[in-house]
Amino acid sequence: MQRTKVKDLLQGAEVDQEVLLKGWVRTKRGNKFVNFIAVNDGSTINNLQVVAEAEKFSEETLKDVTTGAAIAVTGKLVASQGKGQAYEIQATNIEVLGKADPETYPLQKKAHSLEFLREIAHLRFRTNTFGAVFRVRNALSFAVHKFFNEKGFVYMHTPIITASDAEGAGEMFRVTTLDLDNLPRTEEGHINFEEDFFGRSTNLTVSGQMEGEVAAMAFSDIYTFGPTFRAENSNTTRHLAEFWMIEPEMAFYDLKMNADLAEEFIKYIIRYALENNREDLEFLAQRQAEEDKSKPQTERQEMTLIEKLESVVNNEFERITYTEAIDILLNSNHYKKKKFQYDVKWGIDLQSEHERYLVEKHFKKPVIVTDYPKDIKAFYMRMNDDGKTVAAMDILAPGIGEIVGGSQREERMDLLVERMKAVGINPEDMWWFLDTRRFGGCPHAGFGLGFERVVQFVTGMGNIRDVIPFPRTPQSAEF
Ligand code: ATP
Ligand code: MN
Repeated sequence: MQRTKVKDLLQGAEVDQEVLLKGWVRTKRGNKFVNFIAVNDGSTINNLQVVAEAEKFSEETLKDVTTGAAIAVTGKLVASQGKGQAYEIQATNIEVLGKADPETYPLQKKAHSLEFLREIAHLRFRTNTFGAVFRVRNALSFAVHKFFNEKGFVYMHTPIITASDAEGAGEMFRVTTLDLDNLPRTEEGHINFEEDFFGRSTNLTVSGQMEGEVAAMAFSDIYTFGPTFRAENSNTTRHLAEFWMIEPEMAFYDLKMNADLAEEFIKYIIRYALENNREDLEFLAQRQAEEDKSKPQTERQEMTLIEKLESVVNNEFERITYTEAIDILLNSNHYKKKKFQYDVKWGIDLQSEHERYLVEKHFKKPVIVTDYPKDIKAFYMRMNDDGKTVAAMDILAPGIGEIVGGSQREERMDLLVERMKAVGINPEDMWWFLDTRRFGGCPHAGFGLGFERVVQFVTGMGNIRDVIPFPRTPQSAEF
């Protein structure tokens, strides 16, 4: 007999028929005569209630039906007489496929803290919260591909191992097969990477952009979606050492078209989750509202999670230049009352407190900040005519801060080489990248969207460690 998933059964598939259900026991309650077993198989946040009359089953079987056990149930799917569910199964047979000793199974009925669940990341998928988070993550990732596919973008798999250390996006993890106890040395006493696997020094990628730019010079529109690594020792709620990034790169795009695409893209994937993961999002909204109750009034959300997402989808993002952002900050009461920890003046890299002031206090919606000072941005961003700023754009989101970093790229060879030299990159090392400017170069633009930060935004989860299945952070790579 074919197994039917909980999601389909709850929608009334095969009603009044014999069905086969397999899943994990969430709870069992009841009395001498009848047991109510809530079963979940991950297909939905909802459990399916299995009604097992005590007389039909051996005590032995029912004893092993405990929280966490894997079971197979056959029985008739009927409209439920009880409240809380439309359908239930009247069980005729229950097989315990895998026991879960109640004495040692870590997930019990009581609510567990997110911190505790991080320590049992291999089991946390079986909770309502993480079930919802990772179903939403899945939906968002599908929506990413759907969006770009509908627009005719080519999905490029850019390499994880890179030999260029010029990307400059952050600290890198070294990739080597050298014997660390016995390193080969050059005559000058440096480590001799010619003897390493690739015959040169290599690292894990911090961005697929360079390769993406190359591909865009043939396919016009491409995107990458893959793991990205940064050995930044920043223990924040929005940084991981391994995270997933989406990086579209478009030939013939300028900064405004780039910003338009990013805004349309973010709205599209959020709308997709709203339309396809309603129950999960409603659960997460409820969770956030509960969590808020224990917070001081000033830190509570003004809108529910769903209201926030709908407002993002239905309203235009604010667009300001960096210079305007600095003016807003300087004219704020917050600044006048000396409430910013870091100084504000033209030329600073916006700190998280500044970004949060702009999106959460001033505009109360996502903000696209453009045209940053050249000295705080990467060498490949296109120089503006003022000679002081570059065609950069960051998108800042309430509660998260930066979710997108992008720019129009410098397509003019002389200016690009000048900037490379200014930041200490040897243009010869980047010969293949520069070839895109040498041969058929054209105006182009792109951006990088941190996938986990979007998942955080959509699920309302405060810590980035709770939106990636197995987080990699300083001092932590257990699972
Ligand atoms: P931040 O200032 O927040 O560290 P960044 O300026 O280093 O970000 P970019 O190099 O522009 O970020 O990377 C593009 C996007 O990737 C960012 O907008 C962000 O969404 C995401 N991102 C960057 N670093 C991390 C990280 N360590 N963990 C998770 N996401 C990240
Ligand atoms: Mn960073």
